[in-house]
Amino acid sequence: MLGAMWLFLLSVMFCLNSYAEELPGFVVPGTEIQYLVDQNHELTIDAVLETLPSQWQLGEQAILAFGFSPDVYWINFELPASNQNRFIQIDYALLDHITLYRFNQRQLVDKVVTGDNIAFADRPVHHRSFLFPIEQTDQAEQVYVRIETTSSIQLPINILDRNEFFEKDQWQLAVQGIYYGIVLVMALYNFFLYLRQRDSVYAFYVIYVVTFATVQLGLSGYSYQFIWPYAPEWNTQSVSVFTPLIIVAGSMFLINFLDIRDNYPAICRALYIQSFAGIVVSALALVLPYSEAVRLGAGLAIFSCIFLLLVSYLITIRTRQKYAIYFSVAWTIFLIGSVILAMNKFGFIPRTAMTESSAQIGSAIEIILLSFALAERFHDESARRVDAELESSRMNKVLIRQQRAQNEVLESQVTERTEALSDALGDVQKLNLELKELSTTDQLTGIRNRRYFDELIDIEFRRSQRNRSAIGLLLIDIDHFKKVNDRYGHLVGDDCLKAVSTAIANQIRRPPDLVCRYGGEELAVVLPETHCEGVAALAERIRRCVEELDVRSQGEHVPLAVSIGMAAFVPSQGDDYHDLIKSVDEALYQAKDTGRNRVCVGSISEA
Ligand code: GH3
Ligand code: MG
Ligand code: MG
Repeated sequence: MLGAMWLFLLSVMFCLNSYAEELPGFVVPGTEIQYLVDQNHELTIDAVLETLPSQWQLGEQAILAFGFSPDVYWINFELPASNQNRFIQIDYALLDHITLYRFNQRQLVDKVVTGDNIAFADRPVHHRSFLFPIEQTDQAEQVYVRIETTSSIQLPINILDRNEFFEKDQWQLAVQGIYYGIVLVMALYNFFLYLRQRDSVYAFYVIYVVTFATVQLGLSGYSYQFIWPYAPEWNTQSVSVFTPLIIVAGSMFLINFLDIRDNYPAICRALYIQSFAGIVVSALALVLPYSEAVRLGAGLAIFSCIFLLLVSYLITIRTRQKYAIYFSVAWTIFLIGSVILAMNKFGFIPRTAMTESSAQIGSAIEIILLSFALAERFHDESARRVDAELESSRMNKVLIRQQRAQNEVLESQVTERTEALSDALGDVQKLNLELKELSTTDQLTGIRNRRYFDELIDIEFRRSQRNRSAIGLLLIDIDHFKKVNDRYGHLVGDDCLKAVSTAIANQIRRPPDLVCRYGGEELAVVLPETHCEGVAALAERIRRCVEELDVRSQGEHVPLAVSIGMAAFVPSQGDDYHDLIKSVDEALYQAKDTGRNRVCVGSISEA
């Protein structure tokens, strides 16, 4: 669509150009111009006028061209009589020194000095080409022109009616405006793309287009007219400086555009060398004389253009890649246009509207096609990026799903393990409890043992100290138990011990109270928060209970009695539970000593 639009514009441009060329005017054919070569730069106009006609030669091409030459060229042709105001136009902008003489019957009518080595403002008419205004003439005149230039010598000479010239020139300006407009738009568009994408392929395209346009502007005289009118030396140099840069930009563009760096390292090296050569020649152009620099540049340009064409053809044939096809077609069209112009300039084909604009049309089509290809590439890259993003988001989703599934598995495993662990822990705790129970329980009697007593008496004693409450203790010893054993045997003795323990435990009602086996046939009762009277009452109840106990074992009836030592008091901060035990023990001895089967109160007890 875009391409079709541009092609339409181009054909319009071409038609305009043709129309401009069809406008009437008088082109002085090269074959009607005589020329004289002054190798020593010594001829004056007088000397020239004196030369023999045989020293002059007639031009052979439609447009006189002598290539690069250090010689001074003199030409002479006839200016027909006319009652119109006219221009003589030399339509080649790079000529350095031009001196035009008009003679009427060997009388000097006019002498004008111009050329692109003279400031633009000093031209007789401010125009990109060299214009010499001629007032109406009754008789035919003879025109002599001296030309000395470091550029190639081309002499398209026209004699034009002024009105016709202005009409024709406007058309030409319009056409050139369209051409450079296209170039500018393409350069700007791709420059913005470069800023956005930071892909160097766009930058090289822009550099290529801009350098190419700069050379074109220089060759056609527009840059001297509009851009640097006060810099005649630079104006001459600009063509030779910028021509090699076209090669640099073109080569670098191709490398990036067709991904040559990765796929064809050898070609890439060659293109780098070519680019480097371009930079060197461009730099040399700043110091070398124009004629040498421009020949060097033109040689490199011709070689490089063909090389770029071959590379693009090679890649097209090998890969049939879309971009390679674009480049091949664009480059071919550009080269065809250039070749047509060159063939005209070298005189192989006549100058027509077509030949004059062929290079510009070719380059416009090329620039548009390449820009179109870049747009295509931009689109492809965007599509690829979108695809990649989609793919990565899809992969992300898959990953997240996998992660979630793994997490679930992990979680359930953790839960399982935790449950198993807490089960095991529960078991261990239970076992620990059981173990503790077991280790603090007396096997024979089933009541707590001495170990438990030791822990408990410490805890309860300190609690009493803190709370300033009373604590009571009983030590109970079975009387003459040795004799029981001796008489009935140990099994009966054991049964008796069990019966006494159970009986005593049954006398205990309050939860913090504790009965335990203190050792052998001795039992202890700890009574927290119990004062002396309460302890004494319980001791007496126990004594009586054992006395009344009817123990039967192995068919034997065993009468039993216990002696009890007791004490109770409110412990102070400095007190020690061992003192309590000692006091109770003493009371127990006292009970034994005073006849047994009785309760004695320890001295530590409060009154
Ligand atoms: P006393 O009235 O002075 O307390 O005289 P006793 O014979 O009870 O005192 P002694 O300390 O001389 O003897 C304690 C006896 O208790 C010795 C031991 O045979 C007996 N005895 C200690 N533990 C057990 C036990 O677990 N089972 C049995 N059958 N007898 C035990
Ligand atoms: Mg004893
Ligand atoms: Mg005893």
